[in-house]
Amino acid sequence: MQFYVGLKVRIGFGAALLLLSVVGGVAYYTSTRLVQDTDGVQQSLRVLKELDDVPARLLQAELGQRNYLLSGEEAELEPYRVAVGAIHQEIQDLRQLMGENLAPQRRLDALESLVVHAVAELEGTITVRRNSGSAAAWQRVLAGQEQRVLQEVDQSIRDIESQERELLAARHATAEATAQQARVVIALGSLAALVCVAFAGLLLRRDMAKRVRAEDSLRESEERYRGLFENASDGIGCLTVDGIITSVNRALEAMLGWSRAEMIGENYRTFHTPSSLFAEEARLRRIHAGEKVSSLAEIELVHKDGSVVPVESRTRIFRTPAGAPIGVLATLRDITERKRAEEALRQAEEQYRSIFENALEGIFQTTPAGHILSANPAFARMCGYDSPEELKAQVTALGTQLYADPHRRAEVLEMLNQQGTVHGVESQLTRKDGSRFWVSINARAVRDATQAVRYYEGSIEDITQRRAVNQLKEEFVSLVSHELRTPLTSIRGSLGLLASGMIGPVSDKGQRMLDIAVRNTDRLVRLINDILDVERIESGKVSMVKTTCNVADLMTHALEEMRGMAEKAGVTLLAQPVQAQLWADPDRVIQTLTNLLSNAIKFSPAGTTVWLTAEQQEEGLVVQVKDQGRGIPADKLESIFERFQQVDASDSREKGGTGLGLAICRSIVHQHGGRIWAASTLGKGSVFSVMLPLSQEERLRTPAASVSPSVTPGSEQEPPCVTRDEQTRRLQVLVAEDDRDLARVLIAIFERHGAVVYYAQTGTEAILCCDFVVPDLLVLDPIMPEQDGFAVVDWMRQHESLGQLPSVVYAAGELTAVEQQRLTLGPTLFFTKSRVPPDQFERQVMHWLDRIIPASAASYW
Ligand code: ADP
Repeated sequence: MQFYVGLKVRIGFGAALLLLSVVGGVAYYTSTRLVQDTDGVQQSLRVLKELDDVPARLLQAELGQRNYLLSGEEAELEPYRVAVGAIHQEIQDLRQLMGENLAPQRRLDALESLVVHAVAELEGTITVRRNSGSAAAWQRVLAGQEQRVLQEVDQSIRDIESQERELLAARHATAEATAQQARVVIALGSLAALVCVAFAGLLLRRDMAKRVRAEDSLRESEERYRGLFENASDGIGCLTVDGIITSVNRALEAMLGWSRAEMIGENYRTFHTPSSLFAEEARLRRIHAGEKVSSLAEIELVHKDGSVVPVESRTRIFRTPAGAPIGVLATLRDITERKRAEEALRQAEEQYRSIFENALEGIFQTTPAGHILSANPAFARMCGYDSPEELKAQVTALGTQLYADPHRRAEVLEMLNQQGTVHGVESQLTRKDGSRFWVSINARAVRDATQAVRYYEGSIEDITQRRAVNQLKEEFVSLVSHELRTPLTSIRGSLGLLASGMIGPVSDKGQRMLDIAVRNTDRLVRLINDILDVERIESGKVSMVKTTCNVADLMTHALEEMRGMAEKAGVTLLAQPVQAQLWADPDRVIQTLTNLLSNAIKFSPAGTTVWLTAEQQEEGLVVQVKDQGRGIPADKLESIFERFQQVDASDSREKGGTGLGLAICRSIVHQHGGRIWAASTLGKGSVFSVMLPLSQEERLRTPAASVSPSVTPGSEQEPPCVTRDEQTRRLQVLVAEDDRDLARVLIAIFERHGAVVYYAQTGTEAILCCDFVVPDLLVLDPIMPEQDGFAVVDWMRQHESLGQLPSVVYAAGELTAVEQQRLTLGPTLFFTKSRVPPDQFERQVMHWLDRIIPASAASYW
């Protein structure tokens, strides 16, 4: 830009100069011409003047001659002679004045000859006078020859004069035109030159203004840079090529503790630690050798107080345009903090590595393709390899080499890809020697910016032993379910029958003993039920069979169940049911509510009230059980939800609790995705709240599942009635139960109601029995020797007369929905032994039979 402005200015001035030169040249030329023209005019004027003189001289000569003619005195001829001489001189002058031009010269020639002629005439008359006297002379004069010649001379002069005047006019005009031209040229030229000069001046002015601005901004930027230099957070130092410090900023002073004056003039080497200087010198040598070396380096400088300051230095070498170094700019950053962080990181890494190396759990990183990126020694050990290196070298396809079931890895990856993490996923792996073991996997998918999985990382725990223990536990649970519940149920049934006095009269003392036995059997049964419940719910064995249920119904149900207990305890039960739809397992929700209600009643003094309320909140439905009982200490509000936790150790004895009820409630609520918590004021009462989510979305997604209430067929589908040929025939019941004692209790119950009871101790016996009897009701224990209850039902299904048989399944353990399905023939009731003791069994079965058997028939038994 600057260059262009300079060029324009130069062009402007150049043009002005050129124009002025042209104007000067033209002016010179026109002035020369003007001088010439003026000379011509002057010449013409002189010619005219000279021409005027010629007649005057002639007249003078004529007068002189006349005087001589009169006087005859020779002296009188003197003026004549002078005049004649002058005439010739005049003509010579004219000849010179009129220049070389032929026409004027010719005219002068003519004039001269006329003048000569006239002078000759005058001379002739003089000669006559001298020789012949005055009269002769005058006669000659009067003859007029002289006068004619003189007139011709006059005429000739006038001609010349008139031409000269024309010439004069022409010269005058030319001179005038030249002068005008000169004026115009000079004026225009000067104007143009002025314009050029003005233009160039303007540009120069602008250029000057720009220059001033540029200088101002240069000054400002210099000041800014100085400010930046001074106020930069990094230390900055300028060095000569030899390493002598020429300037430093404030930050560098602060960083090293040395003042500016102390540093400037010193060699930078003075401030290096010996080891840092050694490394720096080596680096410089490499730079000088032309190697490509990073301008960044970590160095160590010495603080004035002697401490070492770790610094990150960035150097820049300034060079001349020819490439010769002229100075160095070093930017220095204090990296003490970073070094500290790096050290902390290193230590943390070391710690993590140590954890990684020494962990008992196997830790791994694997690729989606099935390669092991890293594994710790524990992982290698678990898999039977000597080291992680050996494991990585030998296992190149996890899916087929490590997983006992190759599909399992695909399943785990599927879960990881969908959920991002997996916890406690169990899988069987194969060791190097081919043996197998079980692991629990916790892992997560690590993704890149595009959300593609880069690798998986996590840990495995060898759970082979835990699984074996679980297996044992399961077997134990099943044993307890079957081997303990069944005899307990028969004990409870027998005691119930005895205590009811139906078998025969019992003494008062015996009655008291029986009551104690019944109470404690109930307690034992509850304990076993609760233990089994907790185990089953927490191990996920109990699947929640969820359906849409009305909260009001559930609350009413629970309330009805607890009404008897409340009455006994003298506690008023109040409820405020809400009409809300819940997606839940109704039995389990009722179980939870009855548990909370029974606690509330148990721990409330007589005369108080227990409320059961519900409220729909944003989070879900909150059901509350509120009592005015003894309350719970604040430090126990959480722990009471743990297994076997009671506020008071005597609670189990005095109140008949097991310490498992709330643990079961919590498991059930959690399985519904809800929460349970307690609030209490000691001595005033407690509030137990249960939040159950109202999952509209879930309800829409899952069609109403087959419900598993105790009675299989729903109310929409009326149960087929039991039909009998003979009106008088008694109800025929087939009891298939391997436990003889319980069988006896059941037989006693049915016989009490007038039924004919057939007994089978095994599945095979039950099938044989059906060969000659078609029972009206089957009471079935699913677990029996030889052929079990499932086989009996399968067999009956194949016989038309038995395919729709009403039955009551009285199982030792909880049945899954599938098992219930498999055991269903006609209308079916399911009871769990000990959970439903024989007396309750009796009430419910009889009530049910009343519904499914026509009234006319019912009257027969
Ligand atoms: P339990 O069978 O002993 O009742 P739970 O798990 O149901 O077992 O209850 C644990 C303990 O919590 C009880 O033993 C009792 O100490 C305390 N508890 C439960 N509900 C109440 C209540 N409504 N009022 C006072 N204490 C209660």
